[in-house]
Amino acid sequence: MVEAKKYGLAGVMGWPVGHSRSPMLHGYWLQKYSLPGAYVLLPVQPERLPAALKGLAALGFAGCNVTIPHKVAAMELVDRVDPLARRIGAINTVVVEGDGTLTGYNNDGYGYVQSLRDTQPDWRADAGPALVLGAGGAARAIVASLVDAGARDLRICNRTPARAEAIAKAIGGPISVVPWERRNAAIADVALLVNTTSQGMSGQPPLDLDLAALSRNALVSDAIYIPLETPLLAAARARGNRTVNGLGMLLNQARPAFNAWFGVMPEITSELRRMIEATV
Ligand code: NAP
Repeated sequence: MVEAKKYGLAGVMGWPVGHSRSPMLHGYWLQKYSLPGAYVLLPVQPERLPAALKGLAALGFAGCNVTIPHKVAAMELVDRVDPLARRIGAINTVVVEGDGTLTGYNNDGYGYVQSLRDTQPDWRADAGPALVLGAGGAARAIVASLVDAGARDLRICNRTPARAEAIAKAIGGPISVVPWERRNAAIADVALLVNTTSQGMSGQPPLDLDLAALSRNALVSDAIYIPLETPLLAAARARGNRTVNGLGMLLNQARPAFNAWFGVMPEITSELRRMIEATV
């Protein structure tokens, strides 16, 4: 029998949370590295989030992921927040420390930048202007990580401009805000285009963007991974642009969390990628 203290436990808190791919992802790694443990779904209603987080240590959890709608609220409930997560304004990972206190991290932006590096080894953040469409939670994480990776000209374009202004103010650095009405013209000189809006997700209309002005050398990416190829990525690929979908962001954000909980920095294998792709 495995001793309780050696059995690693982690999970994902969300509401609803049934759609999450994280149990499959972390379950694969637990098995691959022969680690005794489990990663479970933790459906937690918003009003119960404080009690659920407080209960992690007592239940023997190494930590958890937090997802919609808890990412912002959880940041105020943990004992300490990593500086990058504080700049982003949300956490997606909680680590239970040896003394039972909780530390919050945000690995989404790391996951995004790493997904570009994995698929485009020659990618550089300072290669040219980057345009981020959207100004929600994913945009905050991606903008912070692009600034930290060395971006010199970052533009945020969002339907609601005040949210884009708020990101520019909170994160700082070489960030400007482009009016939503100017998005088709604003892509003319960009080296990197990122969609972080929900438009193009399965069940949502495609992103309303005309790629005519975009250079064929620009890299086009989407945070969305359901579907794997959004209408934006399909249009970009059809005209010869390189594209990166959102699956790599999901897979890469999970690696440092798994390492913090279970003590192994796991690899993204082609078998794992295929397994998750089969579910989207
Ligand atoms: P969010 O905080 O709700 O932000 C949604 C964004 O979409 C906002 O900027 C919103 O603009 C914009 N939007 C919504 N409807 C629109 C419309 N009709 N026209 C133009 N813009 C519209 O969501 P989020 O957490 O940032 O997630 C955004 C996307 O990223 C989702 O599809 C999610 O699945 C994906 N994501 C992927 C990963 C990954 O690991 N790959 C991680 C996180 C998120 P307003 O501000 O004007 O409302």
